[in-house]
Amino acid sequence: MKVYLDNAASTPLLPEVIEIMTQSMHDIYANPSSVHEAGRKAKVLVEDCRSKIACLLNTSPGTIFFTSGGTESDNMAIKRSIFDYNIKHAITSPLSHHAVLYPLQELTNKERIKLSYVNYNYKGLVDLKHLEDLLSNNPRTFVSIMHANNEIGTIQPIHEIGQICKNYDAIFHSDTVQTIGHYLFDLNSINLQLLSASAHKFHGPKGVGFLYINENLRITPFILGGSQERNMRAGTENIWAILGLTKAMEIAYANLAKDEEYIKSLKIYMIEALKKSIPDINFLGNCLDLENSLYTVLSVAFPKNNNSEMLLFNLDINGIFCSSGSACSSGTSKGSHVISAINPNPEQTVVRFSFSKLNTKKEIDYTINKLKDLFV
Ligand code: PLP
Repeated sequence: MKVYLDNAASTPLLPEVIEIMTQSMHDIYANPSSVHEAGRKAKVLVEDCRSKIACLLNTSPGTIFFTSGGTESDNMAIKRSIFDYNIKHAITSPLSHHAVLYPLQELTNKERIKLSYVNYNYKGLVDLKHLEDLLSNNPRTFVSIMHANNEIGTIQPIHEIGQICKNYDAIFHSDTVQTIGHYLFDLNSINLQLLSASAHKFHGPKGVGFLYINENLRITPFILGGSQERNMRAGTENIWAILGLTKAMEIAYANLAKDEEYIKSLKIYMIEALKKSIPDINFLGNCLDLENSLYTVLSVAFPKNNNSEMLLFNLDINGIFCSSGSACSSGTSKGSHVISAINPNPEQTVVRFSFSKLNTKKEIDYTINKLKDLFV
């Protein structure tokens, strides 16, 4: 049996997404910037996708810019806001994704900005009082706080953070890569200037996403060249991927409540089974608070024993695919910066199980049985 429990790293494409993508690979070949009929047809499709996405998020199409995914969107949001608004101070959390931390740290190392890290508690929740203190003691600030953490699942109160940022005239960016397609967004009601999204986290293709830029924010392009994306992101549009992204997002929002209920039931099932079967485990972040943590993520700390050293490998050879933390850091020797920040206990081994609507209780049973073999 093969059990894929690494959906926070990437999700499988849905058949409807594959269908629209492969069909368009046959039908759509012109460059959307070409002025002839075939090009105009491609352009209409791109604009139709933009309108559909905007409608799902209750914003206007002019605020959505297609990119190559979450990493590019984060980099563009950070670098362009800081340069175009001559920002000298930025705030983020040490638990942010590297696509946010590294560009901010680069600007700090080059002495372009001063970077402050907001305090957080053991669940990874941002200390809002500290955020206010940092904002009130510094010049106009760029704030990047992720909506939900990809490793431990903790969800931040972005409405409240947005209001605080507004009170201090800060530019607020949120990395919503783990929540777009999984939670409802009404961009008209959040005080937020920039939001990053990535299709492969909600059963869309890899290498495509978008950046929402509030219409009151005026930033210049990150990637220069042609006049695509209304001069905001050069490069011929990956139209097949944009169609796949849009289809995946439409399906996600059409089935949101049903899918959430089902995936949450899998998470609860796994929590209960783990508690019953494996001694001395902990759940990290806010994982047990089902309203304030991603229903797709369960981060579990296992006690050290002879098998835990190679836990991921042991699971892998039994056909169970999961991660220790972010897939993006798994090739590095340093391990997860998020896990070491919130769980510095060297006596534990952390595994992130992450679910999608394609998982089943049978798969969870299989996983629990293999874990029992390793720990009981
Ligand atoms: N931000 C978060 C929270 C993520 O989980 C990821 C992907 O793992 C990214 C950014 C990067 O997105 P992408 O893989 O589309 O570049």
